[in-house]
Amino acid sequence: MQALKLDSSYRPIDIIDAFDAFSMVWCHRAKMVESYKDITFKSTHSEWEVPCVIVLNRYIPALSCSMVCNRKNVLWRDKYICQYCGNRFPYEKLTLDHVIPSSRGGPKTWENIVCCCKRCNQEKGSMLLEEASMELLASPKEPSYNQFRAITKKEIHDKWYPYLQGISYQIEEYT
Ligand SMILES: [Zn+2]
Repeated sequence: MQALKLDSSYRPIDIIDAFDAFSMVWCHRAKMVESYKDITFKSTHSEWEVPCVIVLNRYIPALSCSMVCNRKNVLWRDKYICQYCGNRFPYEKLTLDHVIPSSRGGPKTWENIVCCCKRCNQEKGSMLLEEASMELLASPKEPSYNQFRAITKKEIHDKWYPYLQGISYQIEEYT
C-alpha cells in the first residue's frame, strides 16, 4: 500500500510506502490529509488510520528535485523507444548509449545519454553520429519537474487525483 507525499505547498513529491507515511505523521513531520477508509494499522490496544495522502511540514524547492541519470530513468524519459531506429522495446532489450562515446570523453549526463536498442548500440559502437551516419530522434535533455515521477495507471489511487492536477504522469508499459 502506498501514500502520496506532498510538500507544504501541496506539490506532489513522491509516492512512498504507507507505513513510512504513517511514521512521518507519527513523528509530526507531516500531517495526514486523506486516509484509506477500509484499512487500519492495529496494535493490541489501538487502531490507527492508514495514510493515503500526507503533507510535509516543509517546502521542498523544485531545484532539489533533480533526477538521477541512470538506466531506469533514461529509458523512462525516452519512453522505451530507441532514439536511433525509433522502435519501442521491452526494458530488458534496451541499453544506454553515450551520444559522444565515453572513450572520446563523452560525459554521463542527461544531454549525452539516450535509450538505445542493442542492435543500434552495436552498430554505432564508439563512433560519433556523423561517423556512423546515424541521427537522433530528438536531442536529449534532463526531464523537467513535471515529468519528475512516472506513475503507473494502476498505482494511482482515486484520492490522489485532486493533488495530481498539472502534473503530467505517464503510463509505464514496461515495468
Ligand atoms: Zn535501435
